[in-house]
Amino acid sequence: MATYDYRCKSCDKYIPVDRSNIKVGDEVSFTTTYQTSNSARFSSKTGKVIDIAGDICEVVVKKKSYFKNIRDVTPDDAPNPLTYALFGLCKCNKEETPNDI
Ligand SMILES: [Zn+2]
Repeated sequence: MATYDYRCKSCDKYIPVDRSNIKVGDEVSFTTTYQTSNSARFSSKTGKVIDIAGDICEVVVKKKSYFKNIRDVTPDDAPNPLTYALFGLCKCNKEETPNDI
């Protein structure tokens, strides 16, 4: 199924996504929030990265551009946040990502 193995060999939990691997041309998914009259709604989108500048990447979804922080997008083949919540997050390399989650 997934082209990349996100499951840790030593603890059997899921490894956090390495966003430094995201590059132009990749399919990524992200969540947008929009405000309705009385609540915030979440919408999941998938698009293609067409530009990366520092921490900001430009993702095109149906000819519309979204500018997202690279931390807010995930590769399309990565486990979704629900998977992390269900199976747990690998902390074997925790010291390398002090700000994650
Ligand atoms: Zn682990």
